[in-house]
Amino acid sequence: MVYPSGRHFLQIPGPTNIPDRVLRALAAPTIDHRGPGFSRLAREVLEGLGRVFGCSGPVVVFPSSGTGAWEAALVNTLSPGDRVLMFETGHFAALWCGVARRLGLEVEFVPGDWRHGVDPGEVRRRLAADWRGETKAVAVVHNETSTGCTSRIAEIREAMDEAGHPALFLVDVISSLGSIEYRHDEWGVDVAVGCSQKGLLLPPGLGINALSERALEASRGARLPRSYWDWRPMLESNEEGYFPYTPPTNLLFGLREALAMLFEEGLENVLARHRRHAEATRRAVRAWGLEVLCLEPAEYSASLTAVLMPEGHDADLLRRLVLEGFNMSLGAGLGKLAGRVFRIGHLGDLNDLMLVGALGGVEMGLSVAGVPHSKGGVMAAMEYLVETAPVAGRRA
Ligand code: PLP
Repeated sequence: MVYPSGRHFLQIPGPTNIPDRVLRALAAPTIDHRGPGFSRLAREVLEGLGRVFGCSGPVVVFPSSGTGAWEAALVNTLSPGDRVLMFETGHFAALWCGVARRLGLEVEFVPGDWRHGVDPGEVRRRLAADWRGETKAVAVVHNETSTGCTSRIAEIREAMDEAGHPALFLVDVISSLGSIEYRHDEWGVDVAVGCSQKGLLLPPGLGINALSERALEASRGARLPRSYWDWRPMLESNEEGYFPYTPPTNLLFGLREALAMLFEEGLENVLARHRRHAEATRRAVRAWGLEVLCLEPAEYSASLTAVLMPEGHDADLLRRLVLEGFNMSLGAGLGKLAGRVFRIGHLGDLNDLMLVGALGGVEMGLSVAGVPHSKGGVMAAMEYLVETAPVAGRRA
């Protein structure tokens, strides 16, 4: 194979590109996970994660992918046969539903069109109808990575409160944490499910749960079998800054550096940067004459944009040509969207020039693949980036 010179553009919506500072931190020699240095490291990252989640309760970190953290959220809070209300926002909601069903939970899976987030009104109606209180949890994917649609978590919380329903609120923040506003305590979420390879700027390998007081209470009575995913030994060990088994020490070195970078930039600035890059991307897509998959502007994702291909054109061919021609990876259409959409990831450690480069790769790819489109998408994005650039001393 010919050496593909220059940096690969990893524009999938996670794993995201890893900053050099984090790569260097990951490469430090592994330390004794029962020594004092590790204890300081663990306390520091758990405290920092709490800040990112907006969670004053405990945060639990498993050596796992996000799927493990999904399972942990369920097995620690629920019992066999419990009813869970879930919504088919896309591929990841369907996968989480599958995990719940395989664990022996009874899922009421509300169908969706994969072009919207969860309708808070639907949550209110379903819970209000459940006057027996059979639904034990509502589980929602905050940012559906397969569609680029977000769900309005604060409004869903309000709907649950209006229905006066005591169900637990479980939220997947895997592709929103560190990219899209998320306020764990303020929005009354009981368990948030996160992982390392998206807005946290790390490789895959950490699955994360952020907990509320109610979640801890529920975990005392929950009867689904749990061993590896059990919060209890983890919380006990974390008190002293340790893990109940060998932790992923080097990923935690990386996490400490990634958190430092997020705090140096400022969490609000990080979120604003994501919103701005998402808007620039949508302007490019519209200028090309293509369609953004998400139909509801209030639900546009700030971490990725899914783009519908014109009828008769294959998104996977476009992605292949972009990879071969321009050394850039774009996200594939997943599940029933396979071949029909491609996804531009604009989350993680990204700046304006990286985004312009990524959009340039898409625009060139559309030409090479013979996809009918108008020129000028990159130009439209650049104009917006210039208009909104946080440049000091700008002339009117
Ligand atoms: N939930 C969402 C929203 C995701 O985007 C993903 C993966 O991309 C997952 C869950 C599953 O995470 P993992 O592949 O790390 O198990």
